[in-house]
This record gives sequence, C-alpha cells and structure tokens, in this order.
Amino acid sequence: MKYVDEFRDGHAARALAAEIAAVVQPDRQYRLMEFCGGHTHAIARYGLSALLPDNVELIHGPGCPVCVLPIGRLDGAIALALEHGVTLCTYGDTLRVPGSGRMSLYKARAAGGDVRMVYSVDDALALARAEPQRQVVFFAIGFETTTPPTALALLTARAEGLSNFSVYANHVLTPAAMRHLLASGDGVALDGFIGPSHVSTVIGSDVYADIARDSGKPVVITGFEPLDVLIGVRMLIEQINQGRAEVENQFIRAVTAAGNRKARQVVDEVFALRPAFDWRGLGEVAASALAIRPEWSAWDAEVKFGLTTHSVADNKACECGAILQGRKKPQDCKVFATVCTPDNPLGACMVSSEGACAAHYSYGRFVSKEPA
Ligand code: SF4
Repeated sequence: MKYVDEFRDGHAARALAAEIAAVVQPDRQYRLMEFCGGHTHAIARYGLSALLPDNVELIHGPGCPVCVLPIGRLDGAIALALEHGVTLCTYGDTLRVPGSGRMSLYKARAAGGDVRMVYSVDDALALARAEPQRQVVFFAIGFETTTPPTALALLTARAEGLSNFSVYANHVLTPAAMRHLLASGDGVALDGFIGPSHVSTVIGSDVYADIARDSGKPVVITGFEPLDVLIGVRMLIEQINQGRAEVENQFIRAVTAAGNRKARQVVDEVFALRPAFDWRGLGEVAASALAIRPEWSAWDAEVKFGLTTHSVADNKACECGAILQGRKKPQDCKVFATVCTPDNPLGACMVSSEGACAAHYSYGRFVSKEPA
C-alpha cells in the first residue's frame, strides 16, 4: 500500500535502529518523552523500545485524551445523564472510564441514563435535529485535534437555531501540559520530546519554540508510523549530541510551521482560555484548557445545567498519575494485568488503546528489552 507500508518496512526499521546505535554516546542516557497517545500505541505495537540501545529510553507522557480527563469532569457527565435527564453523547472509550465510586458512563446507562456512543460530534448534532424534544449534550474531550470539530458544531447549532444541543467542553492544550511537566519539581528528568503529530497539524510546529528554548530540551514533531518514530528518535539524539535544543519537524508531510490557520480561527471564535484545569495525573495546570465563550453560553452545557466541578483523587491502587508524568511504567503498578485489565479497568490508562497501560497490556506485557 502506497505511503503506509513504506513507513512500516521492517528492513528499513532495523537499518534505522543500527544508525541510532551508531550515533548514541554510550556514556550518556537519552530520556525521550512521547507526548501523544498515538505514539505510545505505535511504540508498544511495533516493539520500538526493543530496537533501541539500552541507554535510549522512551517515556510515556500525558498525551492520551481519555487518560487525562479528571474524575470530577467525568462525574459531571454522569450527573448530566442521571440528574439532568439529558441525552449524553460520547466517544466509546469515555464510556468505560471509572469515575467516583467506580461509576462510569456505561453504568450510568445501566442505571437508566440516556447515554449514547457517537463517532463524531456531527452524530450528536444529527440526534439533536432528529429529536427536538430531547436535550442533547456532546461530552467533548481531547487535545487540539478534536477541538475544531466541536467549534464547528457550535457554529452550526447557532446557525440552525438548535436550542436543544449543547457541549460539555473539556478540551485541553498540549503546550501548557508540556511546560507544566518541565516545571514540576518532582517530574522525571527528560532530554527531549517526541512532539505530537495530529495536534501539530492544527497548532503547527512554531508553538514549541519557546518550550525548547526555555527548557533546553529539543522537540521533534514526529509522525505515527514506526519509521517516523525511529527517524524522530535519531533526530533527537543528534540534537542532544550536538548540544542543540530546537524544534524540528520530521512530519513535514502533514505539519507546517503555522499549522491550520482556519481551524485555529474557528476555535478562537468559540473558545477562550480557562485560567486553570484539573488534569488527571497532573493536577491543576494553568491556562491548559478551553471554555466556551460567554456569548455562546446558550450552547454551553456547564452553564445551561448549572454544573459545578469537584476535584476527586484517583483510586489509591492506581499509578496512572505517576505514569502520566513519566515517573513510572505500567509494569510498576501492582495491579497491572491482574486486577486491572482492559476488560476491567481500574484506572483511565487501561481504557483507551492510546493509554500506556492498555498499550503495554495489548502488545508489550511479556516483552523484555533486548538489544536489536
Ligand atoms: S494498571 Fe490500571 S490501576 Fe495500574 S496504573 Fe494502569 S490503569 Fe491505573
């Protein structure tokens, strides 16, 4: 298949691994954080860590949108379905994330809530059009990639006068979380970032320039395929060896310096920065999420239904927080693959295929790191 198989070629991957082995300096450690659940999934699925020298470590970051959704906001969605009687539309992964007291949207549905799985915000809009007697709420989560479709849906709802449609907005911002991780005192030591790919198609590569400059850590925007990741790793290692900390773009087939201006304009029209947002695993992060602007409040479920958000701690046995900060690996959690499995997730990292625990459970549970 053109343009997919080429990026999954095993011979090319082994050649790249040999090139990486040739350029690493044996007396130093290279700790590279991938900031995107898609990369976490690709690294586990294709066994990329095992191809790398022992002193090159790939560290998972908080890039899985389902994983970083705080329990308090999930409880808000459950309350919308159970207490406010709305039809709550959500992506499939969000249904299984445990909320307070091991409640979930699945269980809310079993308890009589009208919770529907959708594939896109357009499905929720279509439902609102088809059933005007229902109050339809779209539970919007995700990073900069999923925000423009939500903004477009709000533009559409206003243009059509759809008064029974609203959005519970939980969109979060990648650069703010990267800065937060670098600034937090108990964070893991990092040497560079494998920058997100889909997110960067929207926000561009320029936005990481101050992060690389201020932190002294290089950022390489990297595609999702295995060869993309290996090339990105080699580019990072070359920068580190040369003492450079710049933004480089391996994913030039999709990412530009400025990103998608039209998408950013639409988002700016509908959303404004929240002063702070409580991330699962990271805690409160300043200026890291978006709220619907007051002039759009008729379509803001938080305002429409008077939702308040409370902060809820994770299950004590769950190490998602440390994993999302890069301080621990899934295998470090005592309940990994025993009490906690994809069929019975105890924490959010075991739910989505982009979560570190689910990715390791599916592809890497029994794989130890071997030299290439
Ligand atoms: S294995 Fe389960 S409980 Fe442990 S950190 Fe991962 S998601 Fe949380």
